[in-house]
Amino acid sequence: MIEDEKSLNFIEEIVEEDLRNGTHDGRVLTRFPPEPNGYLHIGHAKSICLNFGLAQKYNGTTNLRFDDTNPVTEDTEYVESIKKDIQWLGFQWAEELYTSDYFETLYQYAVKLIQHDLAYVDDSTAEEIAAAKGTPTEPGVPTPYRSRSIEENLTLFQEMRDGKYKDGEKVLRAKIDLANPNMHLRDPLLYRIKHAHHHRTGDTWCIYPMYDFAHGQSDSIEKITHSVCTLEFIPHRPLYDWLIEKLEIFPSHQYEFARLNMTYTVMSKRKLLQLVTEGHVESWDDPRMPTISAFRRRGYTPASIRNFCERIGVQKRENMIDFSLLEFCIREDLNKTAWRRMAVLDPIKLIITNYPDGQVEELVGENNPEVEGGEGSRAIPFSKELWIEREDFMEEPPKKFFRLGPGLSVRLKHGYIVECHDFKKDDNGNVTEIHCTYAPNSKSGEDTSGLKVKGTIHWVSVAHAKKAEVRLYDRLFQVENPAAEEDFKACINPDSLHVIENAYIEPDLADAVPGKGYQFIRMGYFTLDTKSTPEHLVFNRTVALKDSWAKEVKKG
Ligand code: ATP
Ligand code: MG
Repeated sequence: MIEDEKSLNFIEEIVEEDLRNGTHDGRVLTRFPPEPNGYLHIGHAKSICLNFGLAQKYNGTTNLRFDDTNPVTEDTEYVESIKKDIQWLGFQWAEELYTSDYFETLYQYAVKLIQHDLAYVDDSTAEEIAAAKGTPTEPGVPTPYRSRSIEENLTLFQEMRDGKYKDGEKVLRAKIDLANPNMHLRDPLLYRIKHAHHHRTGDTWCIYPMYDFAHGQSDSIEKITHSVCTLEFIPHRPLYDWLIEKLEIFPSHQYEFARLNMTYTVMSKRKLLQLVTEGHVESWDDPRMPTISAFRRRGYTPASIRNFCERIGVQKRENMIDFSLLEFCIREDLNKTAWRRMAVLDPIKLIITNYPDGQVEELVGENNPEVEGGEGSRAIPFSKELWIEREDFMEEPPKKFFRLGPGLSVRLKHGYIVECHDFKKDDNGNVTEIHCTYAPNSKSGEDTSGLKVKGTIHWVSVAHAKKAEVRLYDRLFQVENPAAEEDFKACINPDSLHVIENAYIEPDLADAVPGKGYQFIRMGYFTLDTKSTPEHLVFNRTVALKDSWAKEVKKG
């Protein structure tokens, strides 16, 4: 038998080539380097699956490195959430590291550059520096500070560290090439002054390294073999290589892949933060958010997200992934794993007039008919009065309406066949009660009635049902690519959350736990909300049973 070998993605090809050549002694060490300035989103999941996945596949390990070089936006709340999300996705890092732990080493690296006349202290303002940098077609010009002596630079840099200068008064720049066509090489900033409290180093430092001076150096300090990042960093790579070469440190290498972009959402922590702070959503884990914590709260499984990342693959070109692919992945997973339950979201009462008053039967329903043995079963109480879905009754049903209406029959799931003979209305003409008779010999599994019906509907017993709040979600944005709009918040979908305050659910659902998936039959997949209480049960719809969105777009 020939093994079905999946083709390699381009980064796997690079790693295999390195392994063949014995580069880094066959060692594979990747890293995931989040900045702790927000919660992780589904784009980060792609990077996590790629970095941890590479290490797993090639017997390597992955470091978790918090890229905490900006004291102003970072917080330990974010650090904790990031760790939780990675572990929930099913990955474990070898070492938990912080760029801030390298501040002293990075400082010494900067001193070394100055000693080799490869860096200088510049007193120009940010505007002056930008103006002197030129444009992609015009070379830059040196500022008056570029020719400072090594000794003067060493003294000034020490004084920057000592806190002698205010924010913005001076910066440290690499001395590379002001005419280079790559703007990133036109004497990029290495350090800036920021008198701010850092979440880990406190007030020890008032100068902080720039991303470009911290990132590659941290890779090198950790001896990372394959440093994988997104395409925006391609123009940074020459600087990454230049710094490693001049500092003569471990030759880590940077490789770039296309970031994940997804329709109907935004994927930038800055924008997501705005949604939270301005109250457009409840929190970072509001189930409409594209964050990992939101997907978890909404009932997505780690496997569905990993599977999604596997399916979209690793590309060298930017693209836009349809949100419905992610929904397909969670549907596929929950169809196999979710326990089946009945819940009525828009209740109307059905009375079985020939069923004995006060009688209760315990019907039996398998938890999961998708697997052999059904993963056990639960008892479903059945009695004379039931809640059914309002839309399952029509006063004047059209042909081929295989549910209830005067004279029509259906099967009650797991129960009997009932026939409607009457209904009641209130003064406004709304149907309030449906009256049926049941065939006692039509019980599911032991039906000898000979009756034939085409429809089966779900129900819950009025006397036994629990009340619950049910939240249905829709896309957070009305346009495919909100980030491309002038004001992304102007296209927030005003109907992204639909709250049903009084749904009725099977009594057994009182034992539900957040994260366990349930299929409310005919209604979709649901999970208990993390903020649900026994007194006030709340369920989130993870995803509907079918993709109704595609149709709606066409209709609209
Ligand atoms: P954002 O723009 O959302 O703030 P970021 O790139 O600033 O994201 P980081 O915390 O720096 O966020 O990202 C950590 C890692 O995750 C980086 O290696 C980054 O390349 C990767 N990453 C971030 N966004 C995406 C995405 N949409 N798709 C794939 N990888 C991503
Ligand atoms: Mg970043």
